[in-house]
Amino acid sequence: MVAKLSLPNYDSIDIVNNTIAERVKHRDFFYALKDDWIAHILSYRETGGDPCLIKELTLDTYISQQRIDDEKYQAPKFRESAVPLDRLIQRRKKSLQGLYKPDEGKDLHRILGSMRDNHKLPFCPCCGEPGKPGTLDHYLPQSIYPEFSIVLENLTPMCTDCQELKGNKVKDINGNKKFIHPYYDPIDEVLIELNISPPFENPSAFIADVPHCTPEPLKLLVSRHIKEIDFVNRFEEYCSNEYSDLLATLAEEKEDETREPLIKTITRFFNKARKQSENRWEAIFYRGVLNNIDLLNYFEYSDLSENIKNIER
Ligand SMILES: [Zn+2]
Repeated sequence: MVAKLSLPNYDSIDIVNNTIAERVKHRDFFYALKDDWIAHILSYRETGGDPCLIKELTLDTYISQQRIDDEKYQAPKFRESAVPLDRLIQRRKKSLQGLYKPDEGKDLHRILGSMRDNHKLPFCPCCGEPGKPGTLDHYLPQSIYPEFSIVLENLTPMCTDCQELKGNKVKDINGNKKFIHPYYDPIDEVLIELNISPPFENPSAFIADVPHCTPEPLKLLVSRHIKEIDFVNRFEEYCSNEYSDLLATLAEEKEDETREPLIKTITRFFNKARKQSENRWEAIFYRGVLNNIDLLNYFEYSDLSENIKNIER
């Protein structure tokens, strides 16, 4: 589950100013857009990128009448039925989206590469799954908000599973935002708890849910978020594998007659996992184990070496 991230170290407004200064194509459009674009970034910062509060810019406002007239004049060249202004809007939208793919050697290329590859996160901040997230996600998608394509506050590392599931989604049918924003939402607390159901030889279920004590409206937001990224099913599969590994590790541990109580071993695993986030998968799993007294008793007092043979992997 989601982990809070620190905001990027670079200033998006400097990046936008530099980008506009370097523009060759569609210069008039970018200069007309400049002030509103920067105001839009400030508003993003103020609202934490909330799609319920930020409306996409209407790009036709920044296309000059001269450009529209020129486009009309060239109309016979185009087979599309779209009206000239619509064609121009689509091209300007593509221009804005294209900024996200700067040429090698440009500062922005280096910055985006660094945000994507040098974050040192060993788990996805959107779902908490172990593994280095390999992509950058546009929190507000480029298809709807092309003006945020290179706004760094809108870019967060993400695993490919989450990115595919998130897609271009923004709000639900009631107008509520669907996803937690890792830079802005208050997500330092425990957001997911795990209940492991007996029989402990081979648990019948690993049930992950938002704790009852989570305050509203955060609780509803977390519920929407985990539904969209198929968290429950993905996490259950992980738990099943992790449980088998834990049983095998503990069975081995119990062969040592001078061993410490198993709860100490498990607490060590938990403390290591929670250092970076209370909501990464390992932390949720081991917290679920430690909160389950019956399970801890089972680990301590049963013959695990017999039981692990029965686990389905
Ligand atoms: Zn993920």
